[in-house]
Amino acid sequence: MKKIKLAALFLATSMASTFAAPIAFAANSDISKEKIVSLANITEVSPGVHVIEDRQHIFLVPNVTIITGKDAVLIVDTGLGTASAELVLQEARRLAGNKKMYLTVTHFHPEHGFGAQVFKGQATIIYNRAQRDELLKKGPIFRTLFSEKLAVSEAMKDVNFVEPDITYDNEASIDLGGRVVKLHYYQAAHTLGDQVISIPEQGVVILGDLLETNSFPIMPWFPDLQDTDVDPLNWREIFRKVAASNPKIVIPGHGNIGTRADLDASAQHMDFAREEVIKLCTAGKLLPDIQKELTPVLTAQHPDWDLKDWIGMEIQVYYERLCRK
Ligand SMILES: [Zn+2]
Repeated sequence: MKKIKLAALFLATSMASTFAAPIAFAANSDISKEKIVSLANITEVSPGVHVIEDRQHIFLVPNVTIITGKDAVLIVDTGLGTASAELVLQEARRLAGNKKMYLTVTHFHPEHGFGAQVFKGQATIIYNRAQRDELLKKGPIFRTLFSEKLAVSEAMKDVNFVEPDITYDNEASIDLGGRVVKLHYYQAAHTLGDQVISIPEQGVVILGDLLETNSFPIMPWFPDLQDTDVDPLNWREIFRKVAASNPKIVIPGHGNIGTRADLDASAQHMDFAREEVIKLCTAGKLLPDIQKELTPVLTAQHPDWDLKDWIGMEIQVYYERLCRK
C-alpha cells in the first residue's frame, strides 16, 4: 500500500507543477523493471476471465485482463511498455493456443496501452475512435513525460504508436465463442477515450481508471500538457449506466478486484465532493481555500483509501468545471 501512496504523491506533485524545476534522477535510477507485470499474479475471477492483477499495488502496474472463448481471446490492456506487453502476449498465447486474438485498451494512458505495438500482427487491435485520436495526439507527450519525470525511460524508449486495425464509435461486440464481450464508448470521463468493457452474461465489467478500488479517483488536470479533458459529470453518468447493469465483478484499472459496492462507494464520494465544492464556491470561496477546507473532510471519510494525493486535483476539477464563470 505504501508504494502506491508515495508514487501517487510523486505523480501528483510532479505533474501538477509547472515543470519549471525538473526533478533530477541519477542515471541509474530508472525504475522501469519494477513496473513489469507479474504472471504469478494471474487469477480467473469469473469463468474465462483471467486477470494479471496489480496485487502488490505498484504504481504504474495496471490490472490486465485476458478473456477466453471457444474461438478467440481478448486481451484488455498491455502494461507499461514492451517488456510487460511481451509477457502479456506470452500468457495470452498460452491461454489462446492457436485461437484468434484481439487486443483492446481501457484508455490511452501509458501503463495501460503503451505496449500495443507488440500485438500488431499477432492480434486484431480494436479501440474506439476517440481513444485512437487521443493516443495519436497525446501519446508522444505522455511518452516524454513518463520518460523524463517518472523514471521509466527504459520502458518508454522503444515505444511507438500503432493504429488499431478496427475502430468503432459507440459500441462494439466481440463473440469469442460462447462468451460475448461488449465494448462501450460513453464519451469523455477520466480521459477522452475511456472504454467500458463488459461480459453482460457473467456480470463482469472492466473499468480501467474510471475506478480504482479503495482509492480516491484520479482526475487529471494538466494545463501544462494541454490535457484538461477530464469530465467528472459524465464520469458519474457512466457509473450510473454501469450500475444499472448490476455488475457482480468490477475490475479496476489498479488495485484489488472489486464488486458493485466499490462502484457505489466511489460514486458516493464523487457526489459528496462535487456538492461540497459547489457549496463552497457559491459561498464565494476560492480554490485554494476550498482545497484546504475540504481535503481533510474527504480524507476523514475514507481514511483507508489510497491516492489521497489526488484529492486536491479532484477538487480543482470540480472547481474548474462548475465554479469558473
Ligand atoms: Zn489513467
